[in-house]
Amino acid sequence: MYFLSEEERRFLVRRLLPQAREQEVHPELRGWNWAEPPLAPVYQARLGLYEIAGQYCSTGRDVYLRRVERVQARPNPAMVEGLVLHQAAADLILAAKRVIYSAGVEGCREGLAALQQADHGALEEYGQGLSAEERENLREKIDILWDFEYHRIVARVDEVLARQPYVGVDSLVALALPVTVEQRLDGGFLGLSSHLSADAFVFSEPMMVDLKFGERRNFHRLSTTGYALVMESLWEFPVDVGCVVYVQFRGKRLLLERDFHLIDDELRQWFIEARDERMRLVEEEIDPGRADECYAECPYSAICEERG
Ligand code: SF4
Repeated sequence: MYFLSEEERRFLVRRLLPQAREQEVHPELRGWNWAEPPLAPVYQARLGLYEIAGQYCSTGRDVYLRRVERVQARPNPAMVEGLVLHQAAADLILAAKRVIYSAGVEGCREGLAALQQADHGALEEYGQGLSAEERENLREKIDILWDFEYHRIVARVDEVLARQPYVGVDSLVALALPVTVEQRLDGGFLGLSSHLSADAFVFSEPMMVDLKFGERRNFHRLSTTGYALVMESLWEFPVDVGCVVYVQFRGKRLLLERDFHLIDDELRQWFIEARDERMRLVEEEIDPGRADECYAECPYSAICEERG
């Protein structure tokens, strides 16, 4: 899921990156301009990036209820499923890197073979509240996802081993698995939480990647945009491309759709406006009221039903 096919890589290198160089981002909207408007935060309330980018509730009442009224809502099954699948995908990358470092270049093929069976640790950790049927469905999805990504990892390692006879272990990891999963980031410069966790940063491209296991929504690009701004604020290099990877399951198959996009001025402005709006409602304790259209699985629906 994290690794591009040859066609996708060519699309990125020949189309998107030249486009990014042509359409320059306005200097005020680069993350390293965090000390000046419009990036400088106006309010003090520090939010998680998902609270800004997750626009499932269009008014932001979910953020108000959680942050101001301290309402603890139980995550719905779709949220748990997303969490478990994200974790399983990250676990596999980490396990593969660990194997390569510990077994070395000569022993890594044998070591990787031991990873063929899926690890269901994430399901045990987060899936306790699910019904038996939901757990079984999710177990199958983990198996499919794991099998898909496992074979891609092995193929990439083989490719590097075949082309680079003198490769060292650190270089093998960097060439075959050029991705940092669950990248911890301090969003403090932008008024965000100090403990953000980005799904993945692919440093060979470079590109922010976000996995989604639900249906496609236009605001999903706000996540890659937010993380790109945070990375720019921390390390002062441009991050111009994002990719939301939509993962679906059909029978025993995994289907992938990638939404490549430029992290352009429009997205950056949208993210900053959403940040300011949500920070304001938390800091000034403003109940923004009910959304015109609530989504069926919203964990706050019982409370909003009551209040209207
Ligand atoms: S029930 Fe509707 S208004 Fe309430 S938090 Fe959920 S989406 Fe927002």
